[in-house]
Amino acid sequence: MVWLRREDHEDRELRWLSPWATQSCNAGPRRLAEADDPLRTPFQRDRDRILHASSFRRMQHKTQVMAAFEGDHFRSRMTHSLEVAQMGRGVARALRCNDDLAEAIALAHDLGHPPFGHVGEEALHEAMRDHGGFRHNAQGARTVDYLEDRYGHGLGLNLTLAVRTSLLKGRIPDGFPVSDDLLIDGAKQPVPIEADLVDQCDKIAYLSHDLDDGLRANLFAEEEAAELSLWRDAVASCGSTNRQRIVSEITSLLIHDLVATVDEALAKAPAGGKYPRIRHSDPVVVQAQELLAFLRKRFYHAPSVLTVMQDGAQRIGTLFEKLVADPSQLPEHIRGRIERDGIERTICDYIAGMTDRFLIRASS
Ligand code: MG
Repeated sequence: MVWLRREDHEDRELRWLSPWATQSCNAGPRRLAEADDPLRTPFQRDRDRILHASSFRRMQHKTQVMAAFEGDHFRSRMTHSLEVAQMGRGVARALRCNDDLAEAIALAHDLGHPPFGHVGEEALHEAMRDHGGFRHNAQGARTVDYLEDRYGHGLGLNLTLAVRTSLLKGRIPDGFPVSDDLLIDGAKQPVPIEADLVDQCDKIAYLSHDLDDGLRANLFAEEEAAELSLWRDAVASCGSTNRQRIVSEITSLLIHDLVATVDEALAKAPAGGKYPRIRHSDPVVVQAQELLAFLRKRFYHAPSVLTVMQDGAQRIGTLFEKLVADPSQLPEHIRGRIERDGIERTICDYIAGMTDRFLIRASS
């Protein structure tokens, strides 16, 4: 037989992956036990479920930085997630970690993002101030665990524990509803190394593509970006003055530095313990901070960007109040969740799932 079965992929993982990697056979349980797939490992199956989820498709029309309706070439949450997935796979593979797991985590890492980016997130958190708050990471775990209901068993996509714990990163607001099995004595469980690799790839992706999108939106000039130390290094190493070429060289520099730095740290780390901190080398940390500070000032906080975001945030606050005052305006399948989740959390879930354009229609 020449075709590859799940067992063949798992055998290959055992022979090929580093001792720091997460083997498919250690994916942890699903909340509802399922028979193994004959062709795919548990992580490949999780990845496929995420890709087919409706919350994944909705990311196409959710803001990354430039509102999703402002231009055809700006990143949306979906294209951002695809870029993170590609980098995550590449970095995981280079370090002999599990690239299927990295891909699954990357595709799902922003599923919980509300419309209108971080400003929308703050507006929803404010609306939920007395009801358990809101954070996009925690909402991502809630999305795959509960809100995605295509199988009708109430357990969301029924993903493996390794993927679910990886999605629950960052601070969880007090009182935010999280599945009990994701916490041990109220604390988060340790995450697989692939989760931390994807987290760094998320940063690499947004630093480079936001630089690209900011230039594309004419919010700053190439001469200003050329002051950045990473830009200068990229020009020197690629020998080109082409903007696109320079931006992709910046991505390469960041990826290669991450792989080399993590590889060195792993080689020095005592076997069998917790993997060392996943980070860039010191000089690149400084360069990345410089780029982030530049983007904050010239892109994320640019008046033309903020105006659109603040309008979105205001719509979120107003729509939230309107629906709390009159829940009969909620679609019937959403109203059905009020009894279990309470009115505020139900409305919060509903708004968090909206695309930018759906929110605008719903609030006009
Ligand atoms: Mg992201």
